[in-house]
Amino acid sequence: MRRIGLLGGMSWESSALFYDLLNRGVTERLGGLHSARVLMSSVDFAEIEELQRAGDWDRAGEVLAGEAKRLEAAGAELLVLCTNTMHKVAPAIEAATGVPLLHLGDVTAAAVRRAGLTTIGLLGTRFTMEQHFYVDRIARHGIAVLVPPPEDREVVHRVIYDELVLGVVRDESRTAYAQVMERLVARGAEGIVLGCTEIELLVGADDTSVPVFPTTQLHVDAALDAALREDA
Ligand code: GLU
Repeated sequence: MRRIGLLGGMSWESSALFYDLLNRGVTERLGGLHSARVLMSSVDFAEIEELQRAGDWDRAGEVLAGEAKRLEAAGAELLVLCTNTMHKVAPAIEAATGVPLLHLGDVTAAAVRRAGLTTIGLLGTRFTMEQHFYVDRIARHGIAVLVPPPEDREVVHRVIYDELVLGVVRDESRTAYAQVMERLVARGAEGIVLGCTEIELLVGADDTSVPVFPTTQLHVDAALDAALREDA
């Protein structure tokens, strides 16, 4: 089993879920007392969020590249960046270490393709929904990406930063997300990518009429596939 290096803390609420799912996944696959070989570097999210708001992605890239190097030095054989948004700086992380980074955009696109879908709706932070780094990465796999209109993006983003990263899960927000998802479905979305690692703490398959793609669970499954490959 390869040792998985997690770049976490963005937020720790989703990293905790990540750690939980990784270990449950190993137990399911290997049985007995097996558990995941994991190293985690968990950052202070306040620092990262400040850099996001300031648009200082270069500095954010330096910070995460530094954490990736720490994981490499500690023996990580595979890197997993436990946030969709910070894949904005994936190139800086990849340039800093020789350890392969399992890109969440590719993982998500592969799951959509396996489901046979070609048009998806994307929920995430405003950075993820509005910039190119994630949408284009998915589109590269021949998938059309629909994002919510500005007023819906505002709601989705606010719920992530004011509630979910703080562990607050509200029924009103679940209802609001369900409405945003149904508007995407009405525009032709055949599935919904929960493109922020906290969103699956709020909504799931029961909250919309089309398949959902929860990125934390998908990332965990792909990390385990890679960590447990026969040559590992
Ligand atoms: N965890 C979130 C994501 O997957 C948002 C927090 C962050 O900005 O990293 O995008």
